[in-house]
Amino acid sequence: MGAGPILALLASVLSAGAEAEEKAKADVVLRNGKIYTADPARSVRQALAFTGNTIVAVGSDTDVAPLIGPKTKVVDLVGKLVLPGLIDTHIHPIIGALNGAKCGLAGVKATIDTLKPVIQDCLAKDQGSADEWFEAAQLDNYGFSATAKDLDTIEATRPVALWGNDGHTVWVNSRGLALLGVTAETPDIPGGKIARDAKGTPTGYFADRASIFVDEKIPSPPLEEKVALTAAELKRMSAYGITSLMDAFVTPAEEAVWRKLYDTGRLPMRVRTAIYVADPSDDSDDAVARLLAASKQGDVDTEILRAGAVKVFADGVMEYPAQTAALLKPYLDANGKPTKHEGELYFDPERFARLVQKLDAAGLTVHVHAIGDRAVRASLDAFASARAANGDKDNRHQIAHLQLVDPADFPRFKELGVIADFQLEWAKREPATEGPLEPYLGPERYRYVYPAGSLHKAGATIIGGSDWDVSSYNPFRAFQTGVTRSGGNGQKPLNIDERIPLETAIDAYTINAAYAMKQNKTTGSLEAGKRADLVVLDRDLLTIDPETIDQTTVLATYLDGRLVHSASPGNAKDDDEDEDAGKWWDEREARMREWLHRN
Ligand SMILES: [Zn+2]
Repeated sequence: MGAGPILALLASVLSAGAEAEEKAKADVVLRNGKIYTADPARSVRQALAFTGNTIVAVGSDTDVAPLIGPKTKVVDLVGKLVLPGLIDTHIHPIIGALNGAKCGLAGVKATIDTLKPVIQDCLAKDQGSADEWFEAAQLDNYGFSATAKDLDTIEATRPVALWGNDGHTVWVNSRGLALLGVTAETPDIPGGKIARDAKGTPTGYFADRASIFVDEKIPSPPLEEKVALTAAELKRMSAYGITSLMDAFVTPAEEAVWRKLYDTGRLPMRVRTAIYVADPSDDSDDAVARLLAASKQGDVDTEILRAGAVKVFADGVMEYPAQTAALLKPYLDANGKPTKHEGELYFDPERFARLVQKLDAAGLTVHVHAIGDRAVRASLDAFASARAANGDKDNRHQIAHLQLVDPADFPRFKELGVIADFQLEWAKREPATEGPLEPYLGPERYRYVYPAGSLHKAGATIIGGSDWDVSSYNPFRAFQTGVTRSGGNGQKPLNIDERIPLETAIDAYTINAAYAMKQNKTTGSLEAGKRADLVVLDRDLLTIDPETIDQTTVLATYLDGRLVHSASPGNAKDDDEDEDAGKWWDEREARMREWLHRN
């Protein structure tokens, strides 16, 4: 053998060695920070490295130093806090995005006189024919009551629909009633409420499933418009550090939007869809087969767009005047005297229990909207029957909202492995939790409104969801309210004993949420082998005054190793950012922009 081949062989061995060396280097190293890992020990580390979409090391700066090669992007965190990517387990991105394009009534006092100029202003900018629906959204519906004739004084020619901000109520004018074809002869809708006068004539107010009926009758915008509106909203969610979410109400219309976003590469987060069960009393094999087929169709990608969950309404809402939430004991009247009204369950409990047994056996996660203590109990009973019939199938069933839970039911969450999905942002004193609620429940029950602390103490797994656009999707507001039970500014807290520790609130949006979404093997904590879903924050949540948590700015959001948000100058959001954070960004702007382009 001559020298030539030997040299060639040597050269190839050398280059293979260099390649292996190169491979051992990380793509990105974040160092000199405070990495809250949410690992089982809840360890806090200094540095983290990832390659592609996978975390390869978490440890000290010294630990990750050998992973830095010539091509590695190194970010000096200058002490900033890093959390796992945040997970919103109950949100309505598409419905919310569409509502955002409607005439906005947020913050407008809900009386006909004050609504009139606002709505007429919108109408002037959005003219249409007598057959073209006009919709307004975010009506502060608590305590609001009006008839179609009242709405006619605002607009009589065009059909008008005013959507309440609880997402369960809608008011229409007379032209709207005519277009809907709803008359005294129209039968009631199970699980819904069509308000009627003494003669049975609909008065223009619809709640719960009757409001879904109205929604389905109003033509929706073209698919591409829905996709564009949702994509813009998802970008804003990335700016709040959200890297995964569960859409808690998915019909074929929402499914089409998610699919299009996925197909066109416009999903900056992991999405799980919960398929809406229109009739939770239908426990037939056919109904189960349809849900399974819809779930299978919604499982587009094992990580980015998945289904596997269904959404059921057990009851409605608790606030006066709707009072469609199901209570164990009747509502009181405005003066605290008992009434005969206790709300109603939106399913037959025995049939629903059989449906849950079947869905559980088929491997689906059941996510129940339950507001009143009777709805919560009936849901727990159904999960208990599934447990008895099937054993523990590890489907991580969930009850969302939990406005009122009977203390006797607190321990059952842990016993049955049922996850408590709280909207932590709701647990404060505000118009919705006082006037239309407090007198109608009385002090004994009011003390347990949104019992996050009690359920936490009883060992329940707590997760968080915003239910946007019912309330803001800013997770830091949820953290602050969950910890303080107050809206800030020295406001009196709501049931202070029901506060939860900050770590529990963070868990609710990270590792526990990932568990609920059945994606905790890949996300929810920052550990080697998991996906690089993480956020860099401008302040240290763990040490600051809890009353300032909601002012947190997300400096960077990574999804699957990609930078999907960076707080760069030129974003409107930066204008009120503190100087430190601005400086922090300035130093690294160029580098981050480079990644963004590369990715
Ligand atoms: Zn919801």
